[in-house]
Amino acid sequence: MTAVTRILPGDDASAIAEAAAAIRRGEPVAFPTETVYGLGADARDAEAVARVFALKDRPRFDPIIVHLADPADVPLYAVDADASDPRVARLAARFWPGPLTLVLRKRDVIPGIVTAGLDTVALRVPAHPVALALIRAVEAPVAAPSANPFGRVSPTRAEHVARQLAGRVRIVLDGGPCRVGVESTVVLLAGGRAALLRPGGLPAEAVEAEIGQLERIGDEAPEATSLAPGRQASHYAPGAPLALVDPWPSGPGVADRHGDAVRSDDGALSALPGALSALPGERLGLLAADDPGRDAALAAGGPFAVVEVLAPDGDPTTTAARLFDALHRLDGAGLDRIVAQPVAEVGLGRAVMDRLRRAARAG
Ligand code: AMP
Ligand code: MG
Repeated sequence: MTAVTRILPGDDASAIAEAAAAIRRGEPVAFPTETVYGLGADARDAEAVARVFALKDRPRFDPIIVHLADPADVPLYAVDADASDPRVARLAARFWPGPLTLVLRKRDVIPGIVTAGLDTVALRVPAHPVALALIRAVEAPVAAPSANPFGRVSPTRAEHVARQLAGRVRIVLDGGPCRVGVESTVVLLAGGRAALLRPGGLPAEAVEAEIGQLERIGDEAPEATSLAPGRQASHYAPGAPLALVDPWPSGPGVADRHGDAVRSDDGALSALPGALSALPGERLGLLAADDPGRDAALAAGGPFAVVEVLAPDGDPTTTAARLFDALHRLDGAGLDRIVAQPVAEVGLGRAVMDRLRRAARAG
C-alpha cells in the first residue's frame, strides 16, 4: 500500500473519530501510548490484524498485545479461571492504566493470529488519554505492536512513526513524546503461574511487592520460545552496529591507568585503537548513560561525531524515557558505529539493558 501519511492531533475529537473509523474499517492506525507508539487494529478481526503484521513485516510467530480501555473488560478476553485470579485484580488496581501487560489464557473471541497460535493473550490498559479515547471510540479491544518496521528502533514520537512507516500508514495520532519510553513489563499469570516474560516500563520489583517473587524466563530458558515467542528475534537495530562497551572507563583521566591510552614522549594523551576510539575517517557515535560516563568516554576515546547522554544524573526513569529517542537521533546521523555505556541493572535499568543488548545483537 502506498498512502499519504498524515500526523493528526491526538487531542482533537474529530481526529479520534477519523482514526476509530479507519480501525473499524480494518485499516491499521498509529497511536500514542505512555510506553511507545502502537499500530492498532481491532483485536477480534483476524484480517485487520494480518494487515498490521504485513505493514511492519512482523513475523507471525511474534504475538501482539491487546489494549483495553477498562480493566473490567478482562473477563471478556481471558478465561474465568485466570480472569478471577485475585492477583489480576490486585495488579490491575495498583498499576492499570500503566506499563504492565498480563498474559492470561484467552477466550475464543481473540483469533489465533493475535497470539501467534498460543492459548494465552497479553492484555494491557495503557495510561495515555489518546490511546484510551481511541479504544473507547473503536468500541473494541485494540491489538497493537510497536509502530516500527520489525526489528528496528521503537517509536516514541509521532515523527518517528511518520518517518519509519511513511507511505505504509495513513493516520498517525500525535500524543507527544512517550512518557515511559520503553515497552511494557510482561508478566505471565496464566494457569496460576507468575513469571516475568519481559522487563519493561514498570520495574519487576514493583510487581513483586504486590504478588511476590516472579519466575524469571530468560532468552536461554527452555520454555522461552513457547511462553514468550518473539523475544529471541532481532530487535531495536539502529542504522549502524552498536557495541555495549564493558567495562566502561570509570572517569576522566583513568584511561591511561587502564592501559587503554598511552602518554607519548611529549606527555600528550593519545588513545590506542579500541572500542571507544574512531578509526581514521570513521563516524563514531557515543551513547552515554550519564554525564560522568560521557566525560570518561571523551577522555578515553573519540573523536565522536555525535554524543547522546541518556540522563545527566543517571536517573533510571529519564534513561528509559530517552533511550529510543536517542537511538533514533543516532540512527539519523549517518554513523559507521555506535558505542554504548551499560546502565545499572536495577528497576527500569533492567528494561534499558534488555533493549541495549538486543540492539547490540541486532547490529
Ligand atoms: P510488543 O513488542 O510491545 O509489541 O509486545 C509483544 C511482546 O509481548 C511479544 O514479543 C511477546 O514477548 C509478548 N507477548 C504478547 N502476547 C503474548 C502471549 N500471548 N504470551 C506471551 N507473551 C506475549
Ligand atoms: Mg516492538
